[in-house]
Amino acid sequence: MANKDFPLIFERGQEGRTSYSFPDLDVPELDLDSEFDDAYIRTEAPDLPEVSELEIMRHYTALSKRNYGVDSGFYPLGSCTMKYNPKINEDVARFDGFSQLHPHQDPKSVQGAMEMMYDLQTSLAELTGMHEFSLQPAAGAQGEWTGLMMIRAFHEANGDYNRTKVVVPDSAHGTNPASVSVAGFDVVTVKTNDQGLVDLEDLKRVVNEETAALMLTNPNTLGLFETEILEMAEIVHHAGGRLYYDGANLNAIMGYARPGDMGFDVVHLNLHKTFTGPHGGGGPGSGPVGVSSEIAPYLPKPLLVKKDGQYMFDDDRPLSIGRVKPYYGNFGINLRAYTYIRTMGAEGLKKVSEYAVLNANYLMRRLEKEYVLPYSQHCKHEFVLSGKKQKKLGVRTLDIAKRLLDYDFHPPTIYFPLNVEEAMMAEPTETESKEMLDSFVDAMLAISEEAKDNPELVQEAPHHTPVKRMDETTAARKPVLRYSK
Ligand SMILES: *Cc1c(COP(=O)(O)O)cnc(C)c1O
Repeated sequence: MANKDFPLIFERGQEGRTSYSFPDLDVPELDLDSEFDDAYIRTEAPDLPEVSELEIMRHYTALSKRNYGVDSGFYPLGSCTMKYNPKINEDVARFDGFSQLHPHQDPKSVQGAMEMMYDLQTSLAELTGMHEFSLQPAAGAQGEWTGLMMIRAFHEANGDYNRTKVVVPDSAHGTNPASVSVAGFDVVTVKTNDQGLVDLEDLKRVVNEETAALMLTNPNTLGLFETEILEMAEIVHHAGGRLYYDGANLNAIMGYARPGDMGFDVVHLNLHKTFTGPHGGGGPGSGPVGVSSEIAPYLPKPLLVKKDGQYMFDDDRPLSIGRVKPYYGNFGINLRAYTYIRTMGAEGLKKVSEYAVLNANYLMRRLEKEYVLPYSQHCKHEFVLSGKKQKKLGVRTLDIAKRLLDYDFHPPTIYFPLNVEEAMMAEPTETESKEMLDSFVDAMLAISEEAKDNPELVQEAPHHTPVKRMDETTAARKPVLRYSK
């Protein structure tokens, strides 16, 4: 199973070797057999690694060096906002006053932590123009589902049981149609026009008395701001539907535009993206939901509120959709986001969006010389290129992505969005320097030359990584998730 040059920890060491030493036993030995039922006693020793402390250290240090993260290099993975996560966030998250709390403590004894969460809710409400926020949802996708369940509860409270359809543009993030289905609605797709924006005529055609909501990713996955968003809001509201704003990409618009001002009823944010929660590798996220005053009664309960100068969890919310997450969301990630917002300030967050958009446009304009740019207006935080010119030479977008690894770059998101052939979606974020952007462009242009002169070099990439090209289909269809000899 393992790579012979890099044995698993189970395959290292020698039988009987340990990395601990216990003091001599100075209490009476207990006979387990007489104390416990047979059913509770294992008859064979667990198959644990038998290695020394130094072997463990070297093994995991070597593994960590194979890792690639924002702290090691440029990571322009589109729609993921892989910006630098300031280390002051980590310092604050480790304060004893936060890290040593127990979630079952009496709220009266943790007023400081609750004040932090309450302030975060209020800051997010201000930043998005919404009435109220809940920090419960643990990820963007869960925020989406929570939002849709609230919209359903709202319609049902109005006796409106026939609103079973949610309109989703084909330029939406992939989680949007998935959340719609999981929440029990039918997906109705609305088309994108030749500008890469929602086609208003098509929207008018699909919106009717069965429409529960329009779910909009804005800026959309092409990195474009929906310029006719007010008209869209009007069309949907006029038909009695509600408006859901996928705000995972808030990085592009902070301090410039607010979903609440555009007429949106529900929004979710990804604190692990825009607000510097470390992410990637499936760690904890945070996808708070914000609502208008009309939707507020349906927010998950309990809701963190402030009454008579005290912070408390309000459970007396009869219209609430209920709890969506144990406790009150991922506290550590929310705390990092709070630290980020407080260190940046309102002006700082506005600058973040300016630089995020500037960096993306700079990269886009330099790369369009060699790569096809299907939608050529200015972009927001990200943009999408097409590898169709290179494909004619036999070099596919996947090959380009793999070749970038040889140049020590994390590749952009590939083959998404689906409406662009051989798509490459790049999001540089605001935290990269011009020199870094230029060296990425140099690598991309060099690869485009290689595609012309030596396509095999690109087709067979990567050449300089510990593991060469993977069989991704087998990895997805037959994953081996546990070790066996
Ligand atoms: C990342 C993202 C999501 C999903 O967020 P998760 O936290 O990964 O569930 C949803 N919408 C958009 C636009 C995103 O970029």
